[in-house]
Amino acid sequence: MRVLERMDLAARRTGRDPGKIKLIVVSKTVELARIREAIKAGVTILGENYVQEARGKIEEIGHGVQWHMIGHLQKNKAKHAVTLFDYIHSIDGITLAQEIDRRAVQKGKRVRALGEVNLSGEASKFGIVSEAVVDLIHHVASLKHISIEGLMTMPPYFDEPEKARPYFIRLRELRDRIQKEGIEGVRVDELSMGMSGDFEVAIEEGATMVRVGTAIFGERRY
Ligand SMILES: *Cc1c(COP(=O)(O)O)cnc(C)c1O
Repeated sequence: MRVLERMDLAARRTGRDPGKIKLIVVSKTVELARIREAIKAGVTILGENYVQEARGKIEEIGHGVQWHMIGHLQKNKAKHAVTLFDYIHSIDGITLAQEIDRRAVQKGKRVRALGEVNLSGEASKFGIVSEAVVDLIHHVASLKHISIEGLMTMPPYFDEPEKARPYFIRLRELRDRIQKEGIEGVRVDELSMGMSGDFEVAIEEGATMVRVGTAIFGERRY
């Protein structure tokens, strides 16, 4: 697959181990038959944005692959998200984390998740501001059924990938700062950043998960 080769090259350019970078194949709006083809071709992690849309697909395809929730998650969908997804990239506040924890207790699950950071301050973007992330992680450390394993961000849209680089650097620095705090029981290693237009730059700056849709499935049709 072209995208895997490009990921590999970007990792090697910066002396990183390509095996440590996960490709989340974003399948929102993509129909079942094409998702099945992708799985046949070797895809093991799928990313979806909407609980409602994902539910049908996950019921059909099952958990032979991992399903990651990458879109904004409303508190009233937490229950379904906990049931359906293997990983949640979009924890954007303490109340959502608490609700997921509560639902996960009921299901006897432990939910793996990331804190979504809004680095640009754009009102149209979800996520919490950098200053609040440390608080969130301290708080979640006391919850038994959700763990925050890293950070996720979505920079503003640019047509030049280089322009996204400062955001990727800032997310990495924020992660490093949290690691230095040495919060007990917390390992904040993951960096979910980079999409079709800029995943190579994100990998150069330390991404451990890239979320790629268009470069694999082509333009989305809504
Ligand atoms: C849709 C989406 C992606 C994938 O975007 P592409 O440009 O198609 O690769 C990645 N992350 C999030 C949060 C998305 O909503």
